[in-house]
Amino acid sequence: MSKPSQIVDTHQHAFWTLRDDAGLVADMDDHGIAYAWLLTWEITPDEMNMSETIALNPANTRLDGTNRGVILADLIRARDRYPDRFVLGYCPDPRVGNAPDLLRAAVSMYDVKVCGEWKYRMLLDDPRCLELFRVAGELDLPVVLHLDVPYLPGKAGESEYQKNWFGGTVENLERALLACPETHFIGHAPGFWREICGEADVEPDVFPDGSVAEGGRLYELFDRHSNLYADLSAGSGLGALQRDPGHADRFLERFQDRLLFGRDCYGQELHDFLQSREVPQTVVEKIYHQNAQRLVKGIVTPKARLSSSFPPITPQVKISQRLIESY
Ligand SMILES: [Zn+2]
Repeated sequence: MSKPSQIVDTHQHAFWTLRDDAGLVADMDDHGIAYAWLLTWEITPDEMNMSETIALNPANTRLDGTNRGVILADLIRARDRYPDRFVLGYCPDPRVGNAPDLLRAAVSMYDVKVCGEWKYRMLLDDPRCLELFRVAGELDLPVVLHLDVPYLPGKAGESEYQKNWFGGTVENLERALLACPETHFIGHAPGFWREICGEADVEPDVFPDGSVAEGGRLYELFDRHSNLYADLSAGSGLGALQRDPGHADRFLERFQDRLLFGRDCYGQELHDFLQSREVPQTVVEKIYHQNAQRLVKGIVTPKARLSSSFPPITPQVKISQRLIESY
């Protein structure tokens, strides 16, 4: 594969996995990455997996030892220190407070451009999620989804509960795609990528290996829903390609308008794999940066932001101003 003219990392976090924002920028420089989408990952106390403590920011530890995760305040700090290297993402927990209004306020105040990472132990097509996703669509924010299935087939054919599930299955995903046709969804994580293969229903591993059988449900999903995209980040995205390189070539070409380069951490394993394959230059440019730029316009300098993005003075704003003036 030839080299891309630009690399955009569409799945990244900051202040995690033992590096601060300067450490992330140094890593991006090492790997030729122009800029990255920074995504939050909010963790409730009961959804905390304590083995992940080492990957999280100790400054966000609660008194019970659980961690708030990758929070918006950290990402704002990173973006404001490196405004030409980061696009801001944020996905509030749909179960608490008023998530759609939190998203609206974050867009208006902090120029959030992506709704992500959605990673919660609830079904993707729960009405509280759909309300949030619809508002994301209205604000023209793509939604980045983490999917881990609640059940996997055991070795003896029985179904085994997975306590660290998120979102449900591709059936839940499809219902969300149908319910929110104006919203762009970006699939990610093991529960999504296992469906590249027609044998997902009998595959016991979280990270399946081996050749990709025909009939994967991802094919139908991409074909039926033009609002579905996917990022190739993390071990799940890379693994789905690496398990069958010949299939990967065909998949990259077929869904060249829907796939996004992303890492979810540091290093360049995905880049190394992609570079080892033969696909046309037009496909390379789409996957490495053009598809991302189609979904999110890219870096907006703080100066341009000041002149363009504040909301007009609506009756609602006037009422809240009057409320404040009366204190
Ligand atoms: Zn992530």
